[in-house]
Amino acid sequence: MTDATPRKRLLIRTWGCQMNVYDSTRMADVLAPLGYAPTEQVEEADMVILNTCHIREKATEKVFSDLGRLREAKRERGGDMVIAVAGCVAQAEGAEITARAPWVDIVLGPQSYHRLPEMVARASRAAGAVIETDFPAEDKFDHLPETAAPQGVTAFLTVQEGCDKFCSFCVVPYTRGSEYSRPVAKIVAEAERLVSLGARELTLLGQNVNAWHGEGPDGRPWTLGRLVRQLAEIPRLARIRYTTSHPRDMDADLIAAHGDTPALMPFLHLPVQSGSDRILKAMNRGHTADDYRRLVERLRAARPDLALSTDIIAGHPGETDADHGATVALIRDVGFAQAFSFKYSARPGTPAATMAGQVDEATKDARLAEIQALLRDQQAAFNRSRAGMLAEVLVTGPGRHPGQMAGRTPWLNPVHFDGPASLTGQVVRVAITAGHPNSLSGVIGTPSHATTRERPAA
Ligand code: SF4
Repeated sequence: MTDATPRKRLLIRTWGCQMNVYDSTRMADVLAPLGYAPTEQVEEADMVILNTCHIREKATEKVFSDLGRLREAKRERGGDMVIAVAGCVAQAEGAEITARAPWVDIVLGPQSYHRLPEMVARASRAAGAVIETDFPAEDKFDHLPETAAPQGVTAFLTVQEGCDKFCSFCVVPYTRGSEYSRPVAKIVAEAERLVSLGARELTLLGQNVNAWHGEGPDGRPWTLGRLVRQLAEIPRLARIRYTTSHPRDMDADLIAAHGDTPALMPFLHLPVQSGSDRILKAMNRGHTADDYRRLVERLRAARPDLALSTDIIAGHPGETDADHGATVALIRDVGFAQAFSFKYSARPGTPAATMAGQVDEATKDARLAEIQALLRDQQAAFNRSRAGMLAEVLVTGPGRHPGQMAGRTPWLNPVHFDGPASLTGQVVRVAITAGHPNSLSGVIGTPSHATTRERPAA
């Protein structure tokens, strides 16, 4: 693009998981050479992308109500606006979108983002929507440009996409396709680029990230543990995380990496979904509640200060009071520092949607309330237990108040403390003075005892 190229404005609205956040940055990257610069204002947008998520309740209806508002905005611009729907709703409901919202120009699934420029060109010529929702065998990552925009002190890096697990309640295997692992060389190159742009912490992303088995330089598949150790060698990369994991793919090498790689943070999101073996079987999770308990023991043996987060579903079809009781017991046994819990809601096309024994809403509400009260208590207790510690905090930027800075502990707690803005991007020691329900406060202090084995700032 030359300076004479007219600037166009691109608005991307993102719902859902961190993978979608990452995908939105890549879509912006791929459109930048066409002259699209970001905007937050729909009135000035030449193109709007809704990057959708299918997981939450009524996701599709929310997309349609947003599309209704965009129809007005497009009309006010005399039709001069490209509207695209991306993400998992696009993948799952492409035909319905074009039928119900004919003012949509582009419908594209998560595997087709690299084709956006070509689709924009085709949309300007076509009558009717341009649709790409198949699962091309080619590596879309090969066709995406190098990361262009800095993501900041903390950055996401997709290493794996898709899932072969087919949990009863989940649309991912249908919307994102089967598992695909990016090769080591590509991941390392992207990680180095992100670090050169200022990232100090990388979160490796994948729908089922610990199923990653990308090809190494030797032509053989590597384990995620080995990849983490390789990335930990990058100078100035202080922290590594990965999400989201499946208990069945937590292999011995990855567990060992938690013990032998200080840059791998002692916080792990490990969804369990239920504490009842009967329901875990109905969910097709492939493990029992005790398998999960034993796995947590092994992880804590490798890294004693490891904190866990999880996902819980209340009221999966067939769930009885006894099954719910088993979930509550598992939560008590494990003790989570954080968690995401949801009422089961049917996703069209998934096996659970048509299973017998659908649980009524009032029962689901009551069970979820009990689960959330317990998880809230556990989170508050975990945060309180940080008070008095001297924690290594990665400073992410200014806080909300003048003179205040914000950062993250190794356990992903947000921390607020007074300090200069020049600390952004550094790992500093902060004496934690108080643990609040959702965050910590502290002061930059003198070391009294080490709380982590994290590498200090380079
Ligand atoms: S492992 Fe995760 S992404 Fe895969 S089907 Fe199960 S819930 Fe969905």
